[in-house]
Amino acid sequence: MQISRSKDLFAKAQNSIPGGVNSPVRAFRAVGGDPLFINKANGPYLFDEDGNQFIELINSWGPMILGHNHPQIREAILKAVETGTSFGAPTAREIEIAELIVSMVPSVEKVRMVNSGTEATMSAIRLARGFTGRDKFIKFEGNYHGHGDSFLIAAGSGAVTMGQPDSPGVTRGTAKDTLLAPHNDLEAVKKLVEANPNEVAAIILEPVAGNMGCILPKEGFLQGLRDLCDKEGIVLIFDEVMTGFRLAKGGAQEHFGVTPDITTMGKIIGGGMPVGAYGGKKEIMDFVSPAGPVYQAGTLSGNPIAMAAGMAMLTYLNENPSVYSTLEASGNRLLKGFQATQEKLGLNYTMTHLGSMFSLFFTDKEVYDFESAKTSDTGLFGRYFQAMLHRGIYLPPSQYESWFLSTALTEEHIDQIIDANEESLREVL
Ligand code: PMP
Repeated sequence: MQISRSKDLFAKAQNSIPGGVNSPVRAFRAVGGDPLFINKANGPYLFDEDGNQFIELINSWGPMILGHNHPQIREAILKAVETGTSFGAPTAREIEIAELIVSMVPSVEKVRMVNSGTEATMSAIRLARGFTGRDKFIKFEGNYHGHGDSFLIAAGSGAVTMGQPDSPGVTRGTAKDTLLAPHNDLEAVKKLVEANPNEVAAIILEPVAGNMGCILPKEGFLQGLRDLCDKEGIVLIFDEVMTGFRLAKGGAQEHFGVTPDITTMGKIIGGGMPVGAYGGKKEIMDFVSPAGPVYQAGTLSGNPIAMAAGMAMLTYLNENPSVYSTLEASGNRLLKGFQATQEKLGLNYTMTHLGSMFSLFFTDKEVYDFESAKTSDTGLFGRYFQAMLHRGIYLPPSQYESWFLSTALTEEHIDQIIDANEESLREVL
């Protein structure tokens, strides 16, 4: 595969952009080799600057659930552009999207739009603290909630991929209010709450974790957290930036039938534009300024182009429930194919999957938390990643990320991925 133009661009980018990229994992550090510079994307395909074509399993880290350049979303954006790009004043479109989100996400009664998942989680924690009058919150090791200071402690995603789960620059003062529990360990959470009586404002988690690879909640874990929060007056926050509108149109909370007090959203909600949101019970959301005392604002929040893209995406998902059965079928086909290959090759690597989220961990241990995810052979993952890339399959460049399927993938694409997987495993083992 010829990638000379990407190589040149990456070298040039180092001069003006830290590490040559605007988000760390894009630099391919964990898997070696130079990152590909992308020129365009369409449906299930990405095209790099050298003209190579790839089948996509990142999908912009989640947002492009319908594949790239979906006609309905493109049209909505083009139409919105004609009437101006930003007003900094309320628009009718913001009510439309708020009402649609409220109708789709079970626990959301009111919602505030922001510009990223990071802003959503930062705001949600501030709100939970303001609402409860308590300072501390519990997060789970290996969960990633964006790059707000208080979350960059035992963080997953790029933070762990780069070897920086605890970032320099976060003060001890901030860090002391973030309490850590092992993922999926309800007893550990109960102990933390007991040890910090009336001090825990919130418990935040990825209901299906995607930032240490894809990890499912153990039976009873989510409901156990719900019950504990009810008993202790703690705000339960589901970070559904990844899972929202992906696992079901109402996200993980719809899929598992457990409802949080606050939900943070991002990715799919913006149809590929920079959008995040946080929403929840009226009584809590009415604590947000100007209805209430907790301050949170944004020059570009509710941006008309972003709202048009988001509205087109959510409308499509709301009106086409077949999206989720299609994704489920693709996920199952992929899993079955990978399982058959493992049997053929006498391998026992752990695979996790729910709907359109998927991970292949290079370990034979069960993966249910950060420690077990870290038993994976990341060096082997790096070689596998390169082998897949050379066969035209674009995977997340880290063991600690979920793969995301889109509805643009046909059975033929899934079968191509299955074949590439077998060839790649044969090559690297
Ligand atoms: N929460 C979760 C669960 C995420 O996966 C991410 C991003 N991958 C974020 C928050 C942060 O979102 P953003 O990158 O839009 O700031």
